[in-house]
Parts: sequence; structure tokens; C-alpha cells
Amino acid sequence: MGATHRLLGASAALAWAAWVPLHPAQTAVALVVATVTSAGPTSPDVDRTGPWQLLDRLLPDELLGHRGPLQHRGLSHWWGLPALALLVAAALPAQVAWLAHAAVLGWCSHLLGDLLFGQADPRGGRGPGIPLLPWWGHVGLGLDVDGPLERVVVQRLALPALLAWQTLDALGLAGPLWQRLGQTATVAFHR
Ligand SMILES: [Zn+2]
Repeated sequence: MGATHRLLGASAALAWAAWVPLHPAQTAVALVVATVTSAGPTSPDVDRTGPWQLLDRLLPDELLGHRGPLQHRGLSHWWGLPALALLVAAALPAQVAWLAHAAVLGWCSHLLGDLLFGQADPRGGRGPGIPLLPWWGHVGLGLDVDGPLERVVVQRLALPALLAWQTLDALGLAGPLWQRLGQTATVAFHR
């Protein structure tokens, strides 16, 4: 799922950069930042790292109910944290706020991925997806992580194709290419 998360983060960064729009150099930096916060220990999956899991074992966070905030796909996967980060970022000067926004975007792209993919944990009593409330009330489509849809369709086909198109678009090449394809199709049709 890590590669899917990173591709999703990169795609979200390019879409956002085109929408703002960001300067090309800023786009490149935003792409890196969002990719970093979209997967691995610098993403909501920080709850899968050794130090976090050690903390989970040491602290009796389960006493807070619903298997505790430190469980996997618990508090670190709650949408409220990036929402809070956005509020804090609103106080930053514009010169650095865009960097914070890129980081939050990558983080949120991870949440979106987990909202779609990630089955329930019936043994632990956790639902599929991500928590609607701080660490309980999970919602999600519960699609199979590492299943053919995630591994082949999304990770190997859909997201790489989307990213290729977005890269062409960012370089200003998508429009001319589209026009060229249209012309070729018209000529072929009239033959
Ligand atoms: Zn996750």
C-alpha cells in the first residue's frame, strides 16, 4: 500500500499546484513534501513505527475506551489532526504557509487512501477505513489492501497514467498533445 499512498500523494500535490497555481520550483518542492507525508513513518502510518508501538504497549491508553488512541488507524489517522494543522498554518506567513499546506495535503491523501482501502479488524473490534471520531467510529469502503484492485489497477495503471498526464500538463504539453490526438483521430475518421 506504501507505493499507492506515495503515488496518490504526488498526484494530489500536482493537482493542487496546478489549481493554486504554484511556481514551477514550488511545485517540485510541494511534490517532494506531499510524497514524504503521504506514506511511511512521516505519515499517519507513524503508528506502525517501533517507538509508537512501544509507547502503545507502555501506556494504558486502552483505558480511554474504543481500544485507545494509539492503536493502528487510531488517532494518527483522524481527520481532525490535519484540520488542526491547517488552522495553525493559517497563522503562518504566505511564504511558508504553502509548505505546510503541501505537508497537510500529503497527510490527507494518505487518509483518502485508507478510507478506500483497509479492511476491518474484527479480532480487535475495529471497523474498516479511518476514524470519524478521534480514534473510533471507523468509516471506509474496506477494499482489500494488496488485492488486485489496489496492487494492479490503482498502483500500476490508474495512478501512473494520471501522474504522467499531470506531469505533461504541468510542463504545458498536455494541451498540444490532446489537440494532436484529436486531429489524428479526425483524419483517421474521415478516411
Ligand atoms: Zn494508514
